[in-house]
Amino acid sequence: MASVPDLLLKPSAVFDTPVTTRFDWQRMEAELLGVLREYPDRFRPMIEPVPARESPYAAELAAVKRFGERWRADRAFREALPKDPVNVARQYGLEADPVMLRSLWDIRFNAEQPADWQPPVAVQRYRMFVREKLLHREGLRSRECVPADPRHRAWRERQIARTMTHLGPRSYDGIIHAPFAIEVSKGCSVGCWFCGVSAERRQSDFLYTPENARLWRRVLEALTRALGPAATAGFAYWATDPLDNPDYEKLCLDMAGICGRFPQTTTAQPQKHVERMKRLLRLSEDHGCTINRISVLTLKHFDKVMESFSAEELLHCEIVAQNIEASHIQGNAGRARGARKLKRSAEAHGLVDDAWEKVPGTIACVSGWLVNMVERRVRLITPCPASDRWPDGYWVLDDRHFRDGEEFEAHLEDMMERHMGTAIRASQPARFRPDLRITCDGHTIHAAGWGATTRVAGGGHVAELAEALVRGDLTAGELAVQREDLYGRSAAMTMDTLNQIFAAGALDEEPRDRGAAAPGPPAQEPAFPVHALKPVFEPAVFDEEPHV
Ligand code: SF4
Repeated sequence: MASVPDLLLKPSAVFDTPVTTRFDWQRMEAELLGVLREYPDRFRPMIEPVPARESPYAAELAAVKRFGERWRADRAFREALPKDPVNVARQYGLEADPVMLRSLWDIRFNAEQPADWQPPVAVQRYRMFVREKLLHREGLRSRECVPADPRHRAWRERQIARTMTHLGPRSYDGIIHAPFAIEVSKGCSVGCWFCGVSAERRQSDFLYTPENARLWRRVLEALTRALGPAATAGFAYWATDPLDNPDYEKLCLDMAGICGRFPQTTTAQPQKHVERMKRLLRLSEDHGCTINRISVLTLKHFDKVMESFSAEELLHCEIVAQNIEASHIQGNAGRARGARKLKRSAEAHGLVDDAWEKVPGTIACVSGWLVNMVERRVRLITPCPASDRWPDGYWVLDDRHFRDGEEFEAHLEDMMERHMGTAIRASQPARFRPDLRITCDGHTIHAAGWGATTRVAGGGHVAELAEALVRGDLTAGELAVQREDLYGRSAAMTMDTLNQIFAAGALDEEPRDRGAAAPGPPAQEPAFPVHALKPVFEPAVFDEEPHV
């Protein structure tokens, strides 16, 4: 008898939120497709909202999802549930049967079940849906967000590779590196204390006047020409709340028409605009949007959202619980960074030491353009750990204003040419990122970042190469010539090695022309024992190895 796929067995974490540092996406996809093929009577794809509406188990799945949302958002519910599941669920108005869902919320119960125990079908269906959503996100990251222009594509790939050691494997898996975000307001009316991108106070909106509509369409057309099909993955908010703009839906319909898909919406004020939000969800789904998001700021907001929207209306809308009673804390970036409320929240979640503060924080998810239509401004950005210099968790490589669509498009082209080199330039400084700890084991340079290490092996005189890249006082061209002079190693080979390190995102590309001095050598203490190496030549010189 064929063995039962893991996906149909008991979950390993509460509400089946997989806890891992890396996902095996291929295996996950193969397993999911295999289950769909093998059990067509029990499961069907649910990720696309329009066909999912016809599914015989949409209501059941929505009820399970809603149960999980209450569990994540409400500490009192989490504490009360185990004592009297049936009555507590009833008291909270939850339709799903808490006993049937026990394997999702009671890990001890799970542990007592034999390894081949299969949870009820509602749990299996929920697990399938969670997998579909994870794979949908991965599809965005690895396929749909990939720009057509080779410069942008290579630059984005390099930023993704950098993320592995700069932000850690979880962010590497989780950040989609969308190609653009457009703000259609200036500022945000909500004013969350934890705003990860430090939104300023709302000042004005980009309304859909005839003149603005013309400019808007020119901007979208320029982005679509620059990005190709990846333009479908852009969205229309950043340090703004979409619902602040009364014409948001009209702007999004243009995005659907020009870029190819209605953009994903995240809003923190659905409770103020219930009917509008219901229409927006339906409109977005009907025009190809898969998942939207609602942020809830307080438990009262959460209750209001639960009352105002049916579970089925929110089947493809994630609830991001930002309230103090939620099961997780906010990202350590923007206004949250250093905030007393964040520390209190961490303590309330049992995070007693300060380890959580050391985790690189960002909520930024764009490696591309951040456009503000009110200011007629376009910046080139990419995620980084929030810091004093980059408090909002993204680098700004360029920042310009435009008067019209033609100038906007010219800026895109110029920024790609200027910042998105596909290979290291000879005039570029050759130095490791300052956050990396560099060591050499005799064959290989190890560049250890947050939770992952980039390894480089190959060529002769690797130790000397590591020393030079730690010192960082030469350009790539100077280093290549120097190594030819000193060791007889061809400049082309050195450039080839440098390019592989460059493509791994391990060389320092942090923008420095915005008032910051160039960093000193990355190693503060002599934490860079670069030993004499045995000559090694291995053309496949690079790989990454997470080791959390
Ligand atoms: S988190 Fe979102 S809703 Fe809150 S202030 Fe920032 S942009 Fe506005």
